[in-house]
Amino acid sequence: MSTETLNQRCFNFSAGPAVLPELVLEQIRDEMLCLPGVGSSVLEISHRSKEFGHILNDARDRFRALFAVPESHDILFLQGGACLQNAMIPANLLVDAEQTGDYLITGSWGKKSSAEAHRFGNMHVAWNGDDDNFCRVPDSSEIHRSANPAFVHFTSNETIQGVQFHTEPDAGGAPLVADMSSDVLCRPVDIDKYGLIYACAQKNSGVAGVTVVVIRKDLLERCSDRLPLYLNYAKHSAADSMANTPPTFAIYVLGLVCKWLQDEVGGLQQMQAINEQKSNLLYDIIDTSQGFFQGHARTQDRSIMNVVFKTPNAELDAKFIAQAAAENMTTLKGHRSLGGIRASIYNAMPVEGVETLGNFMKDFLKANG
Ligand SMILES: *Cc1c(COP(=O)(O)O)cnc(C)c1O
Repeated sequence: MSTETLNQRCFNFSAGPAVLPELVLEQIRDEMLCLPGVGSSVLEISHRSKEFGHILNDARDRFRALFAVPESHDILFLQGGACLQNAMIPANLLVDAEQTGDYLITGSWGKKSSAEAHRFGNMHVAWNGDDDNFCRVPDSSEIHRSANPAFVHFTSNETIQGVQFHTEPDAGGAPLVADMSSDVLCRPVDIDKYGLIYACAQKNSGVAGVTVVVIRKDLLERCSDRLPLYLNYAKHSAADSMANTPPTFAIYVLGLVCKWLQDEVGGLQQMQAINEQKSNLLYDIIDTSQGFFQGHARTQDRSIMNVVFKTPNAELDAKFIAQAAAENMTTLKGHRSLGGIRASIYNAMPVEGVETLGNFMKDFLKANG
Protein backbone atom coordinates (compact mmCIF):
# COMPACT_ATOMS: atom_id res chain seq x y z
CA MET A 1 0.00 0.00 0.00
CA SER A 2 1.39 3.42 -0.89
CA THR A 3 1.72 6.15 1.70
CA GLU A 4 -0.97 8.04 -0.12
CA THR A 5 -3.46 5.18 0.34
CA LEU A 6 -2.50 4.88 3.98
CA ASN A 7 -3.16 8.55 4.58
CA GLN A 8 -6.48 8.65 2.75
CA ARG A 9 -9.59 8.87 4.91
CA CYS A 10 -11.97 5.98 4.31
CA PHE A 11 -15.73 5.89 4.71
CA ASN A 12 -15.89 4.63 8.28
CA PHE A 13 -19.11 2.83 9.21
CA SER A 14 -17.99 2.05 12.76
CA ALA A 15 -20.73 1.82 15.40
CA GLY A 16 -18.59 3.68 17.91
CA PRO A 17 -16.30 5.36 18.54
CA ALA A 18 -17.33 6.60 15.16
CA VAL A 19 -16.85 9.07 12.35
CA LEU A 20 -16.53 12.78 13.20
CA PRO A 21 -17.21 15.76 10.92
CA GLU A 22 -14.07 16.53 8.97
CA LEU A 23 -14.37 20.24 9.79
CA VAL A 24 -14.31 19.36 13.50
CA LEU A 25 -11.20 17.21 13.08
CA GLU A 26 -9.54 20.05 11.18
CA GLN A 27 -10.32 22.56 13.91
CA ILE A 28 -8.99 20.16 16.56
CA ARG A 29 -5.80 19.79 14.51
CA ASP A 30 -5.43 23.52 13.99
CA GLU A 31 -5.88 24.26 17.70
CA MET A 32 -4.04 21.22 19.06
CA LEU A 33 -0.78 22.96 19.92
CA CYS A 34 -2.32 26.20 21.03
CA LEU A 35 -5.88 27.36 21.58
CA PRO A 36 -6.25 30.79 19.97
CA GLY A 37 -5.23 33.45 22.48
CA VAL A 38 -4.52 30.91 25.21
CA GLY A 39 -0.94 29.85 24.46
CA SER A 40 -1.50 26.22 25.44
CA SER A 41 -3.35 23.20 24.14
CA VAL A 42 -6.80 22.39 25.45
CA LEU A 43 -5.11 19.22 26.75
CA GLU A 44 -2.81 21.27 28.98
CA ILE A 45 -4.96 23.85 30.74
CA SER A 46 -6.62 23.71 34.16
CA HIS A 47 -10.26 22.78 34.27
CA ARG A 48 -10.59 25.72 36.73
CA SER A 49 -9.05 28.20 34.27
CA LYS A 50 -11.24 30.92 32.83
CA GLU A 51 -10.38 29.62 29.34
CA PHE A 52 -11.75 26.16 30.08
CA GLY A 53 -14.73 27.71 31.85
CA HIS A 54 -15.50 29.43 28.59
CA ILE A 55 -15.21 26.12 26.66
CA LEU A 56 -17.51 24.30 29.10
CA ASN A 57 -20.13 27.06 29.13
CA ASP A 58 -20.03 27.33 25.37
CA ALA A 59 -20.54 23.56 24.94
CA ARG A 60 -23.43 23.58 27.42
CA ASP A 61 -25.06 26.65 25.84
CA ARG A 62 -24.74 25.25 22.34
CA PHE A 63 -26.11 21.85 23.40
CA ARG A 64 -29.04 23.56 25.14
CA ALA A 65 -29.84 25.73 22.12
CA LEU A 66 -29.43 22.98 19.54
CA PHE A 67 -31.36 20.28 21.44
CA ALA A 68 -33.90 22.87 22.69
CA VAL A 69 -33.44 21.91 26.35
CA PRO A 70 -35.80 24.04 28.47
CA GLU A 71 -34.70 25.70 31.73
CA SER A 72 -36.66 23.06 33.65
CA HIS A 73 -33.84 20.63 32.83
CA ASP A 74 -30.16 20.62 33.79
CA ILE A 75 -27.35 19.53 31.45
CA LEU A 76 -24.53 17.55 33.08
CA PHE A 77 -21.23 16.39 31.58
CA LEU A 78 -20.19 13.16 33.28
CA GLN A 79 -17.73 10.30 32.85
CA GLY A 80 -18.23 6.56 33.02
CA GLY A 81 -20.12 6.25 29.74
CA ALA A 82 -23.69 5.19 29.26
CA CYS A 83 -22.88 2.10 31.32
CA LEU A 84 -22.42 4.13 34.50
CA GLN A 85 -25.74 5.87 33.80
CA ASN A 86 -27.42 2.47 33.81
CA ALA A 87 -26.43 2.28 37.47
CA MET A 88 -26.75 5.97 38.42
CA ILE A 89 -30.35 6.15 37.24
CA PRO A 90 -31.71 3.52 39.65
CA ALA A 91 -29.23 4.59 42.36
CA ASN A 92 -30.63 8.15 42.28
CA LEU A 93 -34.23 7.70 41.17
CA LEU A 94 -35.30 4.30 42.46
CA VAL A 95 -35.22 5.22 46.13
CA ASP A 96 -38.78 4.47 47.24
CA ALA A 97 -39.18 0.77 48.15
CA GLU A 98 -42.83 0.97 47.03
CA GLN A 99 -41.75 1.92 43.53
CA THR A 100 -40.42 0.03 40.54
CA GLY A 101 -38.04 0.86 37.71
CA ASP A 102 -39.93 -0.05 34.52
CA TYR A 103 -37.90 -1.09 31.47
CA LEU A 104 -38.82 -1.54 27.82
CA ILE A 105 -36.25 -3.97 26.44
CA THR A 106 -35.86 -3.56 22.67
CA GLY A 107 -32.31 -4.87 22.29
CA SER A 108 -28.92 -5.54 23.82
CA TRP A 109 -28.51 -2.14 25.46
CA GLY A 110 -31.95 -2.10 27.03
CA LYS A 111 -31.21 -5.51 28.48
CA LYS A 112 -27.97 -4.22 30.01
CA SER A 113 -29.74 -1.18 31.46
CA SER A 114 -32.39 -3.29 33.14
CA ALA A 115 -29.79 -5.66 34.59
CA GLU A 116 -28.26 -2.80 36.61
CA ALA A 117 -31.57 -1.77 38.16
CA HIS A 118 -31.79 -5.05 40.12
CA ARG A 119 -28.89 -3.94 42.27
CA PHE A 120 -30.75 -0.92 43.60
CA GLY A 121 -34.40 -1.77 43.81
CA ASN A 122 -37.38 -3.40 42.15
CA MET A 123 -37.09 -3.80 38.41
CA HIS A 124 -40.08 -4.49 36.21
CA VAL A 125 -39.92 -5.48 32.55
CA ALA A 126 -42.75 -3.56 30.91
CA TRP A 127 -42.00 -5.10 27.51
CA ASN A 128 -39.35 -7.48 26.18
CA GLY A 129 -38.63 -8.01 22.48
CA ASP A 130 -36.32 -10.97 23.08
CA ASP A 131 -38.82 -13.50 21.67
CA ASP A 132 -38.82 -11.62 18.35
CA ASN A 133 -35.02 -11.47 18.29
CA PHE A 134 -35.27 -7.73 19.07
CA CYS A 135 -36.52 -6.67 15.66
CA ARG A 136 -39.09 -4.06 16.74
CA VAL A 137 -40.40 -1.63 19.35
CA PRO A 138 -43.64 -2.39 21.21
CA ASP A 139 -47.05 -1.14 20.16
CA SER A 140 -48.55 0.93 22.97
CA SER A 141 -51.08 -1.82 23.80
CA GLU A 142 -48.21 -4.24 24.51
CA ILE A 143 -46.58 -2.11 27.20
CA HIS A 144 -47.46 -3.32 30.69
CA ARG A 145 -46.26 -0.84 33.29
CA SER A 146 -46.09 -1.68 36.98
CA ALA A 147 -48.59 -0.11 39.38
CA ASN A 148 -46.12 2.51 40.62
CA PRO A 149 -43.16 3.18 38.36
CA ALA A 150 -40.40 5.50 39.62
CA PHE A 151 -39.51 5.94 35.95
CA VAL A 152 -39.99 4.24 32.59
CA HIS A 153 -36.72 3.51 30.79
CA PHE A 154 -36.28 2.88 27.07
CA THR A 155 -33.43 2.82 24.56
CA SER A 156 -34.33 5.27 21.80
CA ASN A 157 -31.98 3.57 19.36
CA GLU A 158 -30.68 0.03 19.76
CA THR A 159 -27.23 0.36 18.22
CA ILE A 160 -26.69 -3.38 17.71
CA GLN A 161 -30.11 -4.35 16.32
CA GLY A 162 -30.79 -1.10 14.43
CA VAL A 163 -34.21 -0.67 16.07
CA GLN A 164 -35.33 2.90 16.81
CA PHE A 165 -38.34 4.45 18.50
CA HIS A 166 -39.89 7.04 16.18
CA THR A 167 -42.31 8.25 18.85
CA GLU A 168 -41.91 8.12 22.60
CA PRO A 169 -43.52 5.25 24.51
CA ASP A 170 -46.23 6.24 26.98
CA ALA A 171 -44.84 6.47 30.52
CA GLY A 172 -48.28 6.99 32.04
CA GLY A 173 -47.18 10.11 33.92
CA ALA A 174 -43.98 8.61 35.35
CA PRO A 175 -40.69 10.27 34.33
CA LEU A 176 -39.57 8.96 30.95
CA VAL A 177 -35.88 8.00 30.91
CA ALA A 178 -34.04 7.39 27.64
CA ASP A 179 -30.67 6.05 26.62
CA MET A 180 -29.98 8.15 23.51
CA SER A 181 -26.33 7.17 23.22
CA SER A 182 -26.49 6.34 19.53
CA ASP A 183 -29.09 8.82 18.29
CA VAL A 184 -28.80 11.99 20.38
CA LEU A 185 -28.84 15.07 18.11
CA CYS A 186 -30.00 13.02 15.09
CA ARG A 187 -33.40 14.81 15.17
CA PRO A 188 -35.33 17.29 17.31
CA VAL A 189 -36.78 15.87 20.55
CA ASP A 190 -39.54 17.27 22.78
CA ILE A 191 -37.52 17.39 26.02
CA ASP A 192 -40.61 18.27 28.07
CA LYS A 193 -41.67 14.64 27.72
CA TYR A 194 -38.56 13.40 29.54
CA GLY A 195 -37.36 13.11 33.10
CA LEU A 196 -33.86 12.12 32.07
CA ILE A 197 -31.91 11.61 28.84
CA TYR A 198 -28.39 10.25 28.71
CA ALA A 199 -25.95 9.76 25.86
CA CYS A 200 -22.29 8.85 25.69
CA ALA A 201 -20.64 11.05 23.09
CA GLN A 202 -18.58 8.61 21.02
CA LYS A 203 -21.40 7.51 18.71
CA ASN A 204 -23.15 10.61 17.47
CA SER A 205 -21.92 13.66 19.37
CA GLY A 206 -18.16 13.54 19.90
CA VAL A 207 -15.43 11.38 21.39
CA ALA A 208 -15.27 8.86 24.22
CA GLY A 209 -14.93 10.35 27.69
CA VAL A 210 -18.01 12.49 28.19
CA THR A 211 -21.61 11.42 28.71
CA VAL A 212 -24.30 14.08 28.55
CA VAL A 213 -27.15 13.81 31.05
CA VAL A 214 -30.25 15.98 30.66
CA ILE A 215 -32.23 15.78 33.89
CA ARG A 216 -35.45 17.46 35.01
CA LYS A 217 -34.49 19.58 37.99
CA ASP A 218 -37.21 18.35 40.35
CA LEU A 219 -35.78 14.81 40.11
CA LEU A 220 -32.60 16.05 41.77
CA GLU A 221 -34.51 16.11 45.05
CA ARG A 222 -34.61 12.31 45.02
CA CYS A 223 -30.82 11.98 45.04
CA SER A 224 -29.67 10.61 48.38
CA ASP A 225 -26.78 12.13 50.35
CA ARG A 226 -25.66 8.60 51.11
CA LEU A 227 -24.53 8.13 47.52
CA PRO A 228 -20.84 8.54 46.75
CA LEU A 229 -20.19 12.08 45.50
CA TYR A 230 -19.50 11.02 41.93
CA LEU A 231 -22.70 8.98 41.68
CA ASN A 232 -24.97 11.78 42.87
CA TYR A 233 -26.70 13.87 40.16
CA ALA A 234 -27.54 16.65 42.61
CA LYS A 235 -23.86 17.11 43.49
CA HIS A 236 -22.88 17.34 39.81
CA SER A 237 -25.67 19.81 39.21
CA ALA A 238 -24.70 22.00 42.17
CA ALA A 239 -21.08 21.98 40.98
CA ASP A 240 -21.94 22.79 37.33
CA SER A 241 -20.30 19.52 36.18
CA MET A 242 -17.11 20.48 38.00
CA ALA A 243 -17.42 18.28 41.10
CA ASN A 244 -14.08 16.86 40.03
CA THR A 245 -11.93 17.22 36.91
CA PRO A 246 -14.35 16.84 34.01
CA PRO A 247 -13.32 15.19 30.70
CA THR A 248 -11.99 18.46 29.33
CA PHE A 249 -10.99 17.37 25.82
CA ALA A 250 -14.22 15.44 25.21
CA ILE A 251 -16.29 18.48 26.32
CA TYR A 252 -14.29 20.69 23.94
CA VAL A 253 -15.04 18.28 21.04
CA LEU A 254 -18.73 18.07 21.97
CA GLY A 255 -18.88 21.87 21.74
CA LEU A 256 -17.28 21.79 18.28
CA VAL A 257 -19.74 19.13 17.09
CA CYS A 258 -22.68 21.23 18.32
CA LYS A 259 -21.24 24.26 16.55
CA TRP A 260 -20.93 22.20 13.35
CA LEU A 261 -24.57 21.14 13.63
CA GLN A 262 -25.65 24.75 14.18
CA ASP A 263 -23.48 26.54 11.62
CA GLU A 264 -22.85 23.98 8.87
CA VAL A 265 -25.92 21.71 9.01
CA GLY A 266 -28.40 24.36 10.15
CA GLY A 267 -29.99 22.58 13.11
CA LEU A 268 -31.60 19.28 14.00
CA GLN A 269 -34.55 19.50 11.63
CA GLN A 270 -32.12 19.69 8.73
CA MET A 271 -30.01 16.95 10.29
CA GLN A 272 -33.06 14.70 10.52
CA ALA A 273 -33.92 15.29 6.86
CA ILE A 274 -30.37 14.38 5.84
CA ASN A 275 -30.39 11.29 8.09
CA GLU A 276 -33.68 10.14 6.56
CA GLN A 277 -32.33 10.70 3.07
CA LYS A 278 -29.20 8.68 3.88
CA SER A 279 -30.98 5.77 5.56
CA ASN A 280 -33.75 5.62 2.92
CA LEU A 281 -31.12 5.30 0.24
CA LEU A 282 -29.88 2.05 1.83
CA TYR A 283 -33.29 0.73 2.90
CA ASP A 284 -34.64 1.22 -0.64
CA ILE A 285 -31.85 -0.97 -2.00
CA ILE A 286 -32.60 -3.61 0.65
CA ASP A 287 -36.34 -3.48 -0.09
CA THR A 288 -35.92 -3.81 -3.85
CA SER A 289 -33.28 -6.58 -3.74
CA GLN A 290 -35.97 -9.29 -3.93
CA GLY A 291 -34.88 -10.80 -0.67
CA PHE A 292 -31.14 -10.83 -1.35
CA PHE A 293 -30.53 -8.25 1.35
CA GLN A 294 -32.64 -8.84 4.47
CA GLY A 295 -33.06 -6.06 6.99
CA HIS A 296 -33.17 -6.99 10.68
CA ALA A 297 -35.70 -4.48 12.03
CA ARG A 298 -39.41 -4.28 11.24
CA THR A 299 -39.89 -1.66 8.53
CA GLN A 300 -41.55 1.04 10.65
CA ASP A 301 -38.98 0.65 13.46
CA ARG A 302 -35.84 0.81 11.36
CA SER A 303 -33.05 3.01 12.61
CA ILE A 304 -31.87 6.06 10.71
CA MET A 305 -28.47 5.62 12.44
CA ASN A 306 -27.59 1.91 12.26
CA VAL A 307 -28.68 0.00 9.15
CA VAL A 308 -28.54 -3.71 10.04
CA PHE A 309 -28.98 -6.36 7.35
CA LYS A 310 -27.57 -9.57 5.94
CA THR A 311 -27.11 -11.42 2.67
CA PRO A 312 -28.41 -14.99 2.03
CA ASN A 313 -25.51 -16.57 3.95
CA ALA A 314 -22.54 -15.94 6.22
CA GLU A 315 -19.98 -16.52 3.46
CA LEU A 316 -21.54 -13.81 1.31
CA ASP A 317 -21.67 -11.51 4.35
CA ALA A 318 -17.93 -12.01 4.83
CA LYS A 319 -17.30 -11.44 1.11
CA PHE A 320 -19.38 -8.26 1.20
CA ILE A 321 -17.44 -6.91 4.17
CA ALA A 322 -14.04 -7.78 2.69
CA GLN A 323 -14.80 -6.33 -0.76
CA ALA A 324 -16.22 -3.17 0.76
CA ALA A 325 -13.09 -2.75 2.88
CA ALA A 326 -10.96 -3.09 -0.26
CA GLU A 327 -13.00 -0.21 -1.70
CA ASN A 328 -12.33 2.00 1.32
CA MET A 329 -15.56 1.34 3.24
CA THR A 330 -14.59 0.01 6.64
CA THR A 331 -16.12 -1.51 9.78
CA LEU A 332 -19.25 -2.92 8.17
CA LYS A 333 -19.22 -6.18 10.14
CA GLY A 334 -22.36 -6.71 12.21
CA HIS A 335 -22.08 -7.04 16.00
CA ARG A 336 -20.74 -10.45 17.01
CA SER A 337 -24.03 -11.29 18.74
CA LEU A 338 -26.04 -10.84 15.51
CA GLY A 339 -23.64 -11.40 12.61
CA GLY A 340 -24.43 -9.97 9.18
CA ILE A 341 -23.70 -6.38 8.21
CA ARG A 342 -24.17 -3.11 10.05
CA ALA A 343 -23.68 0.28 8.43
CA SER A 344 -23.60 2.97 11.10
CA ILE A 345 -24.41 6.22 9.34
CA TYR A 346 -24.31 8.77 12.13
CA ASN A 347 -24.71 12.53 11.62
CA ALA A 348 -21.09 12.92 10.55
CA MET A 349 -21.23 10.27 7.80
CA PRO A 350 -21.30 12.26 4.56
CA VAL A 351 -24.06 11.59 2.02
CA GLU A 352 -21.28 10.68 -0.38
CA GLY A 353 -20.23 7.81 1.91
CA VAL A 354 -23.75 6.38 1.91
CA GLU A 355 -24.03 6.79 -1.88
CA THR A 356 -20.74 4.96 -2.32
CA LEU A 357 -22.01 2.11 -0.11
CA GLY A 358 -25.33 2.06 -1.98
CA ASN A 359 -23.58 1.72 -5.34
CA PHE A 360 -21.42 -1.03 -3.92
CA MET A 361 -24.52 -2.87 -2.68
CA LYS A 362 -26.14 -2.69 -6.13
CA ASP A 363 -22.98 -4.03 -7.78
CA PHE A 364 -22.69 -6.79 -5.18
CA LEU A 365 -26.28 -7.82 -5.77
CA LYS A 366 -25.69 -7.98 -9.53
CA ALA A 367 -22.57 -10.10 -9.11
CA ASN A 368 -23.92 -12.45 -6.45
CA GLY A 369 -27.72 -12.30 -6.58
C1 LIG B 1 -22.50 2.39 23.06
C2 LIG B 1 -23.76 2.35 23.82
C3 LIG B 1 -23.77 2.22 25.22
C4 LIG B 1 -22.51 2.04 26.03
O1 LIG B 1 -21.78 3.20 26.15
P1 LIG B 1 -20.44 3.25 26.99
O2 LIG B 1 -19.98 4.66 26.81
O3 LIG B 1 -19.50 2.24 26.39
O4 LIG B 1 -20.77 2.92 28.39
C5 LIG B 1 -24.99 2.22 25.86
N1 LIG B 1 -26.15 2.36 25.18
C6 LIG B 1 -26.18 2.48 23.85
C7 LIG B 1 -27.49 2.66 23.16
C8 LIG B 1 -24.99 2.49 23.12
O5 LIG B 1 -25.03 2.63 21.79
